Amino acid sequence: MTKIGILAIQGDFQAHSQALTRIGVPFRFVRKASELCGLGGLILPGGESTTLLKFLQEEELLEPIRQFAQSNPVFGTCAGAILMADQVENPSQPSLELIRMTVRRNAYGRQLASSIQPIEPEPELDTGPEAGTPLEAVLIRAPVIRQVGPEVKILARLASQPVLVRQGLRLAGTFHPELTKDTRVHRYFCQMASS
Ligand code: GLN
Repeated sequence: MTKIGILAIQGDFQAHSQALTRIGVPFRFVRKASELCGLGGLILPGGESTTLLKFLQEEELLEPIRQFAQSNPVFGTCAGAILMADQVENPSQPSLELIRMTVRRNAYGRQLASSIQPIEPEPELDTGPEAGTPLEAVLIRAPVIRQVGPEVKILARLASQPVLVRQGLRLAGTFHPELTKDTRVHRYFCQMASS
């Protein structure tokens, strides 16, 4: 079965490994470019995007991940999604520029910034044993996706703003599906990686 890489330099990479274990998908932690070799997909976890970015720059991982993303699926959650956006605000910072979207860091009001919100997934995401129930979106100092390009598909929204988006082989969510038992989002990504 296709092995999925999880960027394991900072943030909640362990939680992603547990989410993959729950659905029986093998994984490898990635800390250097050579570890991308042979993987069928890559997860960029939540954490602190500035710290992640600094490490990616220091370890010269930005370009290898961009290359990897040319032909393989990549999934970013929260800080990982910030790294995938092509425009970052509050403040502006460089990124991998993998998805045509503008994200604003720490931009939900105090009520929503860190909370658990029920959201309705689009039908293509709503599969398996959890289908038909709301998805619990765990938000932790989450960014807001303010704008998406025409090629970006919105797979879930919260208060009319996109919280899970896809552009080709690239998936980004502002919440943390790895912190709930719900397997829909990880199953969806692993299907992208195996088809
Ligand atoms: N606020 C963090 C950032 O800007 C993201 C938080 C998270 O990943 N849960 O990078």
